Amino acid sequence: MPRKLAAGNWKMNGGSAELSEIAALALAHPAPGCDVLICPPATLISRMAEAARGSAIAVGGQDCHGAVSGAHTGDVSAPMLLDAGASHVILGHSERRQDHGETDATVRIKTTTAVTEGLIAVVCIGETLGEREAGQTLDVIGTQMDGSLPDSTTAATIVVAYEPVWAIGTGLTPTLDQIAEVHDFMRARLAARFGADMADGIRLLYGGSVKPSNAAEIFAVPNVDGALVGGASLKADDFGQIIAAL
Ligand code: 13P
Repeated sequence: MPRKLAAGNWKMNGGSAELSEIAALALAHPAPGCDVLICPPATLISRMAEAARGSAIAVGGQDCHGAVSGAHTGDVSAPMLLDAGASHVILGHSERRQDHGETDATVRIKTTTAVTEGLIAVVCIGETLGEREAGQTLDVIGTQMDGSLPDSTTAATIVVAYEPVWAIGTGLTPTLDQIAEVHDFMRARLAARFGADMADGIRLLYGGSVKPSNAAEIFAVPNVDGALVGGASLKADDFGQIIAAL
């Protein structure tokens, strides 16, 4: 069983004032029972890495380019994230897929680059409400996994996050049975491609409206190795309760 991971995705939220949340989190959880990762906006990575130094909190980016450098105005590369103090990067979040037209192929290229450069990639997948209602959830998840994960995937370098698009920021969550069904399927899909030993070590996160009140029951679902938390990761109190639930 891999060590569990509580990951926070601040999305396009937070400025200098919010750095105090990290200090509070580090103070309140000096030796958490799980790995802890915060992914702030790119503008805060460097200062957050500084604030988190010496604590158990790792810092990550929310995206990176598929190339390591070059003429890509506005983009951030994997080496830049590392240089700023990040150890992880979220890739293929549904908001990137929607807002920036990222496909499984794009995500796979970015993931390959990120891992080659030395980052741990948190690769996101998830179905829309329409796809779930049409009974296509497992097909969609399987296709996204096959397309987004590189052949070089290992348990040390890749985390997979299941985030149903309809559960993100809505307060809606799948039933525990629905989460279990998808996570079991993901584990089996990984085992078929990478072998059972490797698959067992790859952390599978659930994301979508995780909060202190539902964290414990979601973490008790088999094959759930942690959470990718949006809104509730912005406050040290809320995120601290989620960390404690792991
Ligand atoms: P919420 O926790 O705000 O629903 O967001 C989930 C998410 O998208 C994390 O990446």
